[in-house]
Amino acid sequence: MADFDVDLFVIGGGSGGVRAARIAAGYGARVMVAEEYRMGGTCVIRGCVPKKLLVIASHIHFEIEDAAGFGWTIPPVTFDWPTLIANKDKEIARLEGIYTTNVEKSGARIVKTRAEFEDAHTLRLGTGEAVRAKYVLVATGGAPNHGEPIPGIEHVISSNEVFHLPELPKRIVIQGGGYIALEFACIFAGFGSDVTLVYRGDNVLRGFDEDVRAHVRAEMEKEGINILTGCTVNRIDKRAKEFTTHLSNGSSVASDQVMFAIGRHPNVANLGLEKTGVAINPNNGGIGVDGFSRTSVPNIYAIGDVTHRTNLTPVAIREGHAFADTVFGKRSLQVDHADIPTAVFSQPEVGTVGLTEAQARARFSHVDIYKTDFRPIKSTMSGRDTRVLMKLVVDGTTDRVVGCHVVGDGAAEIVQVLGIAVKMKATKADFDATMALHPTAAEELVTMRTPTARYVRQAAE
Ligand code: FAD
Repeated sequence: MADFDVDLFVIGGGSGGVRAARIAAGYGARVMVAEEYRMGGTCVIRGCVPKKLLVIASHIHFEIEDAAGFGWTIPPVTFDWPTLIANKDKEIARLEGIYTTNVEKSGARIVKTRAEFEDAHTLRLGTGEAVRAKYVLVATGGAPNHGEPIPGIEHVISSNEVFHLPELPKRIVIQGGGYIALEFACIFAGFGSDVTLVYRGDNVLRGFDEDVRAHVRAEMEKEGINILTGCTVNRIDKRAKEFTTHLSNGSSVASDQVMFAIGRHPNVANLGLEKTGVAINPNNGGIGVDGFSRTSVPNIYAIGDVTHRTNLTPVAIREGHAFADTVFGKRSLQVDHADIPTAVFSQPEVGTVGLTEAQARARFSHVDIYKTDFRPIKSTMSGRDTRVLMKLVVDGTTDRVVGCHVVGDGAAEIVQVLGIAVKMKATKADFDATMALHPTAAEELVTMRTPTARYVRQAAE
């Protein structure tokens, strides 16, 4: 060990890197963490947390609108974007401080600088210093894609800049059909902005259950979001403070901001990986790893978004924890990537866990679908034109519930708990045996008795 300055060098102080550093230090390892931007990483600084704060702020608009049906007369309200952003920044700075303190308290040392490989055991810091490490964990996360370099691309903002806009755009064009694009479309629509969503595919939320995709799109359109599918942005012109976005369908849209949320790529560039022999996964462009997050070089591991497996905070945290347990805690742990509950904080919200109907039908010979679509109790008096979707996908042979999909208020909270049932391999009979909690929307999940569709594959198929 004397040969090494530290037992573990972590590149990246985000969700995964911080967890790994703390746990490894807890096992007595000498740990150094390099962070080139701000401790906490994407989730805390410009991802999940600030986004959820904006979602909450934007949702208040619906509460105010819905209040009249319940007898409230609310005086004309005003909204101040700079106050929201300043308060959000204060909260993010507080969390950044907590992340820093927790790492330091664990005994790990933070260096606020960039780190790059010089060889498999040597890191060169932005300060010029070289550090020799027995093990290295790459936890550098990912960054937004801008796509093809179209004319006017320099005017486009990504999810990095959107959190720091000096003023609320009255009109915004967002290109993308994934969760980040939808979330920001709904955030801005909630604040009263005129939103146009442009997506090259046939419908938003590729990879989600088809019923969820159709339902979310219909609900967003009801709220006035202009969704243009099957087209892309070709060019953006800027004149004074106004942008004109030219689309592949020949039309153009005027706006005050243009945002792209068309995917993210793993942060593997300029890390010096070529000096170490660490291989890139040709299928996804991330660092290739095995079930223990070990790369092709035995002392180098990689976790979180830089591996481009399942790009979610809790997954990065689990992977970081499992790495530290395995390498420093003498407990061989692999992360189970099956049945990960996930949400889209659109308006309405989506919560989903397990298989889509299409995935289940490809995998199982007998699939039963239980689906309901109803008006939530609140809308009966608020008068809001919105509907909730609940769907269970059941393997008809074993009776196991293999997929749950919810669109509506509280969907994410509902599905976090449903995730336990799916992970425990609960059957439809278990759901049926569970008493309804009345009056809730979620009670529908345990009261759907008759399949709305049944698919039985014939032997020859
Ligand atoms: P990161 O958190 O990205 O951390 C990587 C860190 O490494 C960064 O701080 C970076 O500055 C640093 N770094 C990179 N290169 C170097 C270097 N060479 N030297 C030093 N430091 C370096 N996930 C959810 O689960 N739920 C959500 O609701 C959700 N919402 C999101 C919303 C948005 C807008 C975005 C962009 C992401 C969202 N995510 C969400 C995804 C989540 O943020 C990521 O999956 C998670 O942050 C990944 O953690 P990580 O540790 O792999 O990387």
